[in-house]
Amino acid sequence: MTGHEFLRALDKDNLKVWKRGGRRAPHKPLLLLLALGRIAQRKPRLASYSDEIEPKLKDLLVHYGPRRSSLHPEDPFGRLVGDDLWEIPRVETLPTTSAGTLRVTPLRQRGVRGGFPPYLDRLLRGDAELVETAAARLLVQNFPESSHASIRDAVGLPESMALEAMTLYGEKTVKPRRRDPDFRRRVLTAYERRCAICDFDVRLNDDLLGLDAAHIKWHAAGGPDRVPNGLALCTLHHRALDRGAIGLEGGSSAGFVLLVSNELTGVSDAYHQLVDARGRPLRAPQESAHLPDAAFVAWHRREVFRGEPRSR
Ligand SMILES: [Zn+2]
Repeated sequence: MTGHEFLRALDKDNLKVWKRGGRRAPHKPLLLLLALGRIAQRKPRLASYSDEIEPKLKDLLVHYGPRRSSLHPEDPFGRLVGDDLWEIPRVETLPTTSAGTLRVTPLRQRGVRGGFPPYLDRLLRGDAELVETAAARLLVQNFPESSHASIRDAVGLPESMALEAMTLYGEKTVKPRRRDPDFRRRVLTAYERRCAICDFDVRLNDDLLGLDAAHIKWHAAGGPDRVPNGLALCTLHHRALDRGAIGLEGGSSAGFVLLVSNELTGVSDAYHQLVDARGRPLRAPQESAHLPDAAFVAWHRREVFRGEPRSR
């Protein structure tokens, strides 16, 4: 496998990350990012499932995966073997479930280890640019930009050369799906250049400071660059929306109200401001045709919003 073949194998279509109906299964990208982080930190090729992979991957799935009743970190650990991206010594001796995934108890009890296959490990250790390009590619295709820095931090990858990295490795095809450059302007205009939640509108010499055009259904999940999939949000509310700390509900003629996750904690004024906004109507756009589309709001609620909405 060459570096370019490795990068192509990471594409979301090849990893089958997005399921029908836009359901998220970010297990494989998160395990691959964790393994790339081990390379960046010069840790040994093989990692113990029970000590080094399971607790970290669980944590990543809790924070960056969709809300599900069970997390299954053993799932990508076994399935990446079939993608030729992973090696588990003597994998053929391990029992599997009827669904074909590895049984979790033997993984823990037998001290099973896994990692990149030796040839891939050598390739990656000798090529920091390939590691960075692979990490950027996984992040861009599977997570909103506002989460990239914290995921990097969590898996032990150094701060990035950011999106420019993707044109490094001589790859022309690794750029994220092209964004409509006009999306930001149209969304900010629709919401009168203020945060739809808190009215934040601070300017420096007429330049907006920290006001974003947020996607409700993530760009990485195929959410379109249309105003009904957008909200003008300050940086804090944008990040809170992308991480599922807040969400929307409603959608009748009365518009949408703000949901705040019951998993949010804090004691500062900022925390109380976030929580006190629960149940409040979002400021509507100037034109009703620009109101959020209920389908995108439903996707966000199902795939991104964390925990349950606070009632009080
Ligand atoms: Zn705001």
